[in-house]
Amino acid sequence: MASSPTATSCVASWNGADDRRKEEKKQSKCELIRYEELPDWLKDNEFIHGYYRCEWPMKETILSIFSIHNETLNVWSHLIGFLLFLFLTVFTAMVIPRDGSSSSSWSSRSSTAYWGDLVEMANMTVALRHDALAACFLLPPSAAEPGLSEDGQKIPTSCPPNTSSSQSNRHHGIQIQDNTSTPGPSMDDDADTLAAATAVPDPVTRWPVFAYLAGAMVCLLTSSACHLILCHSERTAYVTLRLDYAGIASLIVTSFYPLAYYSFLCHPSLQRLYMGSITALGAAAATVSLVPAFQAPELRPLRAALFTCMGASGVVPVAHKLVIYGGTSPGAVASAWYEALMGVSYGVGVVVYAARVPERWAPGRFDLVGHSHQLFHLFVVAGAYAHYLAGVEYLKWRDVDKC
Ligand SMILES: [Zn+2]
Repeated sequence: MASSPTATSCVASWNGADDRRKEEKKQSKCELIRYEELPDWLKDNEFIHGYYRCEWPMKETILSIFSIHNETLNVWSHLIGFLLFLFLTVFTAMVIPRDGSSSSSWSSRSSTAYWGDLVEMANMTVALRHDALAACFLLPPSAAEPGLSEDGQKIPTSCPPNTSSSQSNRHHGIQIQDNTSTPGPSMDDDADTLAAATAVPDPVTRWPVFAYLAGAMVCLLTSSACHLILCHSERTAYVTLRLDYAGIASLIVTSFYPLAYYSFLCHPSLQRLYMGSITALGAAAATVSLVPAFQAPELRPLRAALFTCMGASGVVPVAHKLVIYGGTSPGAVASAWYEALMGVSYGVGVVVYAARVPERWAPGRFDLVGHSHQLFHLFVVAGAYAHYLAGVEYLKWRDVDKC
């Protein structure tokens, strides 16, 4: 009986010591270390001297999203970018009209129900209202009755009912001849013009823009996750880096879809050529990224060249688009400007990333804030957003200018 408490105490004491050792080991594992202390598989940038995590337990590694280390801003810059694109996806689905062909209910609302855009489409609607109201001053009510509605709301394009029984109508204080008794060709022409101006065509399909938004979100989320948990183990680093490469490939491939689909809407063979080519290249890049046989260090230049060629090959369809539409379609030019902005943003980002500036100029000084990889991430998000704006230009262009 007496030995029992002693034994229990010894066990408790031993367990307590064990727990303490485990806790100390965990704490020592969760300390930030310097570049020289890193294993080879974590050594990447010798100009960043400190604040490294290394082989922390997975739970602590994930929770480190809320602590300060040299990957904190890398994680958050692309996580916020992901949330931005999630918002843009919802915004695009709700504000910018969707593909009519995929929805049976669309046909009854196709003319006006979802008509709108970031700014310009809304402005166009306002302009149409003004035009229609102005027409009320010039046309008899019967001629100005296009009956536009927007989400069930009547747009005041119809004129107040005519209460005059005489051959002439006094409408909004302006005397207008009744065209039933004195038909004037100019009245009919104006009515036709108004009807044409207020008749909004079915919007072009949206799937290439949504494919791009999905590709961007995959890229940003895998990148953020990669930066967060890569340090956990060599195996985790191997897997997450492969996923990161695949995410980059998905961003590049889906970036081509709005460009190729909308630019060559009236040239199906070119459309298929460009979309097929980039999809095949993307599949090749994904294979290179995921298959272990392609991970040999000597194949690193091949992998880098593949991604670079994929991105740079976007110059070809953009130039082709400008050759066909550069002089006739403002939408083609506007989208090309945003695509150029995207190219510049990605290009500057890659140069900064490769040059490892500014940390190269002051090693150790930009460990936490301002090092090249953080700047690279900001340029990637900016470039991806510029490409989204190009997608909006395509929608504005092709909604009103189909084949
Ligand atoms: Zn990164």
